[in-house]
Amino acid sequence: MAGMFIDVEVDAKVAADPALARKLTDVCPVNIFAQEKDGRLRLVEENLDECVLCELCIKAAPPGTVRVRKLYES
Ligand code: SF4
Repeated sequence: MAGMFIDVEVDAKVAADPALARKLTDVCPVNIFAQEKDGRLRLVEENLDECVLCELCIKAAPPGTVRVRKLYES
């Protein structure tokens, strides 16, 4: 089976907003989001392949500001 991997992109404005960063950290069931000490969002790269494509992060943020991409290895 061809490998699939996930890339998550978050707009800089959202990543810099501690309230939204907290919301994302709370909703993701596999802890792909975390917060820095100053409240900024941090993507937990090593958890990206655990993404279950639930889209909770997409719904938690303003439309279009969080994107979950499915990438396939050729
Ligand atoms: S789609 Fe679900 S599992 Fe994937 S990053 Fe968003 S909240 Fe986490």
